[in-house]
Amino acid sequence: MTKRTGQCLCGAVKFTAKDTPETFSTCYCKDCQRWVGGPYRGMSVPTENLEITGREHISVYKSSDFAERASCRKCGSPLWWRLTKTKYFGKTSIPVGLLDDTGGLTLNHVLFSDYKDQTNDIPDDVEQMTSAVSRSGQVN
Ligand SMILES: [Zn+2]
Ligand SMILES: [Zn+2]
Repeated sequence: MTKRTGQCLCGAVKFTAKDTPETFSTCYCKDCQRWVGGPYRGMSVPTENLEITGREHISVYKSSDFAERASCRKCGSPLWWRLTKTKYFGKTSIPVGLLDDTGGLTLNHVLFSDYKDQTNDIPDDVEQMTSAVSRSGQVN
């Protein structure tokens, strides 16, 4: 069991999650894709294991009658997704992209896999640029 830390883009909201799993899931449902602008990759942790600072900067959106999604009011980063009903009540899903370090995390399942489309594929012949090249400004 691992302790993991993370934050939103602007740093106003930070969190520490203890006893985190070694796995994450990817969801292609339309709500997730509209929320994060693409497939959602989340790590599910018991809500009581989550310590959050900067709560005054958090906006919570009730995305359906059984779930809510939180984001940072300042920078817009998605912060968590959680069910408010059903047997999964008590767990919070954190976007893995917020984590300072994703070392050791592996994908264990894909939700709404039939909603995945070709925009999520990376064909072999597509140019892939490292962070050094991407930051250089030489990207068209
Ligand atoms: Zn922020
Ligand atoms: Zn989803």
